[in-house]
Amino acid sequence: MKTKYQVIDLNHYTEADLAEAGRIICEGGLVAFPTETVYGLGADALQEEAARKIYAAKGRPSDNPLIVHITKMEDLEALAEEVPECARKLAGAFWPGPLTMVFPKKPAVPYGTTGGLDTVAVRMPSHPLARDLIRVSGRFLAAPSANASGRPSPTRASHVKDDLDGRIDMILDGGEVNIGLESTVVDVTGEVPTILRPGYVTQEMMQRVVGRVEIDRAILEENVDRHFVPKAPGMKYRHYAPKGSLTVVEGEEEAVIREICRLAEEGVKAGKRVGIIATEETAGRYPAGMVRVIGSRADEESVAHGLFAILREFDDLEAQLIYSEGFGEQGLGRAIMNRLLKAAGHQVITAGGEKV
Ligand code: AMP
Ligand code: MG
Repeated sequence: MKTKYQVIDLNHYTEADLAEAGRIICEGGLVAFPTETVYGLGADALQEEAARKIYAAKGRPSDNPLIVHITKMEDLEALAEEVPECARKLAGAFWPGPLTMVFPKKPAVPYGTTGGLDTVAVRMPSHPLARDLIRVSGRFLAAPSANASGRPSPTRASHVKDDLDGRIDMILDGGEVNIGLESTVVDVTGEVPTILRPGYVTQEMMQRVVGRVEIDRAILEENVDRHFVPKAPGMKYRHYAPKGSLTVVEGEEEAVIREICRLAEEGVKAGKRVGIIATEETAGRYPAGMVRVIGSRADEESVAHGLFAILREFDDLEAQLIYSEGFGEQGLGRAIMNRLLKAAGHQVITAGGEKV
C-alpha cells in the first residue's frame, strides 16, 4: 500500500483540506494525525473491520483496547452506557484535553475496538487538526498512538513514517506535538476514579476536582512486585523500547553523574556506542559517549516533550548502551518515570547502590 503524506499548515488550512482524510476514515481506512499528546492512528471506531486494521498495521496485541476520540459531550452518550457525576466533573475540568476516561460501553461499540472488554475508553482531544478530522469524517475515531507496537510513541509525523509507511493509508503532518506523552487513563466505572495510566493530568489535579482519586496498584507496585496485573491491558506490555539497552540511573544528582560517567567510559572502552540522556543542567558533565539533552529539570514539561524523540534519536545513532538520569515521581514526574522505566524494561541502578 502506498501511504499518502499530506502536510497541513496549522495556521492556514480549511476543512476542505481534510476531505480526503475524512473519506478514507469513512471507507474504513487508516489516517495518522497529530493530537496534543502524541500522533494517533485513526479509524472509524464503530466499524469493527477498521479497528482490526489498526491492530494489524501496528502489530498491536488484540487484547489491548483502543481509545475512542470525540469532539462533544453528546458523542459520549452514544458510546457510554452510563456517565457518572465524577466523570462529568472531570470532563468539565479537563476536556478537551489529555484525559481518557473508561466507561461501560454501549452495544454499538464493537468488541474489536475495546479489545473484547465491556468498557470503552473515551477522550476529547484539544488539538484543532484532530478535532477537525473527527468533524469532517463525521465518525468517532479509535486512535492508539501511531507507532509500531513496542516502539516509542511518535511525537512527529516523521516518526510515524519511520514505523508505518506502506502500512496505512495516510499521514497528516501537522508538525511536532505539544505534550509528548500519552493521555492519562482513568477508570470511572467504580466507586473511586482510578488512574490506569499516568499522564499529563496528574492525580493531584483530578483530586482537586473530584476529591478521591486512586492509582491502579499495578502501576505503584510495578517496580516492587510483578504479581499485580494492570487494569489497562496495554500497561502490561514492554513499551517504548529503544533498540539499544537502556538503563535508568537514580539517586542523588552528583552520584548519578559519577555513575553514568563511569558506565559510559567502561562502555566506550569496550568499543560500544554509548548514549547518555542528560538534562540541560547536567549535559556538560559527561566527557564520554553521545550526550543528548531531554529537557530541563527546572521544567518537567520539557522533559515529557523530549522523552520519546530522544529514544528514537538514539536508535538513529545506533546506540548500543543508553544511560539515563532518573527523575522524581511527583506530579508529571510519575508519568515521565512510568514511560522511562518501561522503555528500560525496568533496568534501574541506584547510584552507589545495587542493580535491581
Ligand atoms: P494507546 O492508545 O496506545 O495510547 O493505549 C491506550 C491505553 O488505554 C492502553 O494502555 C489501553 O490498555 C488503555 N485502555 C483503552 N481502553 C481501555 C479500557 N476499556 N479499559 C482499560 N484500559 C483501556
Ligand atoms: Mg501506545
